[in-house]
Amino acid sequence: MAQSAPLFDRLALVGVGLIGSSIARAARSLGVVRTIAATSRSETTRQRVRALGLADYVADSAAAAVVDADLIIVCVPIGACGAIASEIGPHLKRGAIVSDVGSVKAAVMRDMGPHIPAGVHFIPGHPVAGTEDSGPDAGFAELFINRWCILTPGPDVDRSAVERLAQFWKALGAGVELMSAEHHDLVLAVTSHVPHLIAYNIIGTAFDLRHVTDTEVLKYSAGGFRDFTRIAASDPTMWRDIFLHNRDAVLEVLGRFNEDLAVLTRAVRAGDAETLFNLFTERRAIRRGMIQLNAPAPGFRRPEADPGPEPLPRPYASDDV
Ligand code: NAP
Repeated sequence: MAQSAPLFDRLALVGVGLIGSSIARAARSLGVVRTIAATSRSETTRQRVRALGLADYVADSAAAAVVDADLIIVCVPIGACGAIASEIGPHLKRGAIVSDVGSVKAAVMRDMGPHIPAGVHFIPGHPVAGTEDSGPDAGFAELFINRWCILTPGPDVDRSAVERLAQFWKALGAGVELMSAEHHDLVLAVTSHVPHLIAYNIIGTAFDLRHVTDTEVLKYSAGGFRDFTRIAASDPTMWRDIFLHNRDAVLEVLGRFNEDLAVLTRAVRAGDAETLFNLFTERRAIRRGMIQLNAPAPGFRRPEADPGPEPLPRPYASDDV
């Protein structure tokens, strides 16, 4: 359902790949912002953003894109966030909200925070939604519907600014949770980062096996393994940056994982039926509990309008840009 009035006058997106272009499509089609300015590092992507009609104004630099914006969302790989913050810092409007979508939060706060001037609200965020595809063509307006967006504001951030950003994500269909950046990084290490590492690893193991051909791996890759191959198709730059910037939490989780795996390995080697059966029964109960907990949260809003396929119609909400 479209907003009755836009929540923000001008949204600036720095980086228009899968996540940035999905935000643009959703914000536009639901009337959540009045105008959108966007930029991307390369002229090739900027041209694509123009061709897809994702923004009212496509700037040649991040500094130019953020001028007069009320909400700025940085949608680039984590390792690039600090340099972007340093570039945009002097051009930010007083009272504006600066956020990001990076999959690791403590490092982003550390790298971006010092460049955000007083009077501008810095509220890091992470929409826990994605696909293995990249670039502006890969995005879609429904990406955030019934997914969580985690915000990690520092202790001194203005609460009404946090509420405004939360309203933005809710308007895009997401549920919003607040937590500390450190807690976010530990939670995501368990639920996303280490599972990705396992996927990357098992793909290598499978294709290295001397007596199993590549064709057999693909032919018989039902269920779990097929999911691993999909996960391992994710963008290498993004995942490199995640492991470089969430090292401590990932190592903590990996340490525990290896201990648990050692128990299973021992049970398999020893033919210890009781241990295997008990562990599998216990883990099945955990999984069933998770499904109950994950029923759609109250307050989730499902936009009723189907934003439809690309391209979005021109002109958008405003022509005066
Ligand atoms: P993407 O589709 O690959 O798009 C990346 C964007 O960042 C493009 O606009 C790209 O510009 C720009 N960029 C790449 N390297 C850059 C650099 N060194 N300096 C400045 N700009 C650079 O990526 P994405 O999937 O949207 O991911 C963006 C962010 O969202 C990441 O921080 C990621 O952690 C987070 N995230 C991703 C997912 C997911 O599933 N993909 C989910 C949640 C959060 P050009 O195209 O012009 O080079």
